[in-house]
Amino acid sequence: MKSALALLTIIGTALAASQKPLGGPIVDAYLGPNATALRAHALELMDKYPLIDTHVDMPQILRTLGRRPLDMVDDLDKHVPGHVDIPRMKEGKLGGLFMTVYSPCPNFIGQDPGPDFLNPLETVRDNIEMFDLIQNIVDEHPDTFAWAYSSADIRRNFANKKISALIGIEGAHTLGNSLSTLRIYAQLGAKYLTLTHICHNAFASSAGWGKGFEVTPIHPNNGLSDFGRALVLEMNRLGMMVDLAHVSWEVMQDVLDITRAPVVFTHSGAAAVNDHPRNVPDYILKQIGSGKGQNNGIILSVFYPIFIGLDRATVGRVADHIEHIASVCGRAHVGIASDFDGMYSSVEGLEDASKYPQLIMELLDRGWSDDEIKGVMGENLLRVMDAQDAVKESLKHEKPARDIYEKRQDLPAPWGGEDNKYLPTEVRKVVHARRQRDEL
Ligand SMILES: [Zn+2]
Repeated sequence: MKSALALLTIIGTALAASQKPLGGPIVDAYLGPNATALRAHALELMDKYPLIDTHVDMPQILRTLGRRPLDMVDDLDKHVPGHVDIPRMKEGKLGGLFMTVYSPCPNFIGQDPGPDFLNPLETVRDNIEMFDLIQNIVDEHPDTFAWAYSSADIRRNFANKKISALIGIEGAHTLGNSLSTLRIYAQLGAKYLTLTHICHNAFASSAGWGKGFEVTPIHPNNGLSDFGRALVLEMNRLGMMVDLAHVSWEVMQDVLDITRAPVVFTHSGAAAVNDHPRNVPDYILKQIGSGKGQNNGIILSVFYPIFIGLDRATVGRVADHIEHIASVCGRAHVGIASDFDGMYSSVEGLEDASKYPQLIMELLDRGWSDDEIKGVMGENLLRVMDAQDAVKESLKHEKPARDIYEKRQDLPAPWGGEDNKYLPTEVRKVVHARRQRDEL
């Protein structure tokens, strides 16, 4: 949930920030007498290996705070309301982040997408503005950020003490029902696309908002549409990771049945730990792993209190999700995704971007080895990125998908005026002949 709730986040965090100091004290509260040693160990690991967060909604905060969002970009050096700014990213030793290109589902902002998603909307414009905002964020802070499109970029940036900046798109409702848009988004640097947000779209079925906010199924078996299958295969070809956060469980299965690359769940928990439709059920988790016939993907564990469980929304509960996912998929198939600035509250011990070390401390306290933690922090994700890039290389002989959403009524384009009188005579004749033939 975003936009409207972002305001609550801002107010809530501003209050919290004035009342509670960042850093040390909370460590003692959560991890007892070993806290000092665990913290030293965690920080040492984070100096050696990058921690990559695959879902950070900070750009929408800048867009929420000001009528001219680019004016807010400079402020990132200072405190920005919400969960994320540069001082807190540095305190939390963040190695890289996927910033989210996001514009809301139409129903979330009172717009009607129409029964076939054909009503005109501004999601493509808004997404382009979000790309532009993120480009400004990175380019205005070159001492902090460096662009990354591959694991090699991330390693190089980390060696240069820069935070890697990557882009993920949240929700295929922002494609304007078009694979052309997908290809241009890929050119703009998007490394993943979440197939839905909280609404269904022409490609795939959503998990909705969760309990009490279920969405009525529209696609066959509440899964992918045929056009959605074309989208997945085209993403494989483009080297864009298919993100299964937010989608229905049926879509998760449909994608696993056809994808040619590892999948990612960029901000999800385990349904066995907290029974919620946004989380991943065990029957899906069992298909992710390093074994024969399994998808070599990754589940990046979210910090969102509603998903991890409101009854105990703590750093320990986030670790419970990580450990459950790891117990089914293996420790090489789990990672970290905060959803910072995309949620109106946060968990105790992981309140903002300065607190990542506390999750590492929690895993150390539970006996995870340095190698395993290195994987959770980022190496597991880098492996998936490498695998996705290898798939792209292997598919470079394929031509771009030509599929057009079958419900679209704007093609062939009626752009020639009345009876196409503004087009060359030959074109007019061909179109006229075709129309007569179609009417027969
Ligand atoms: Zn989300």
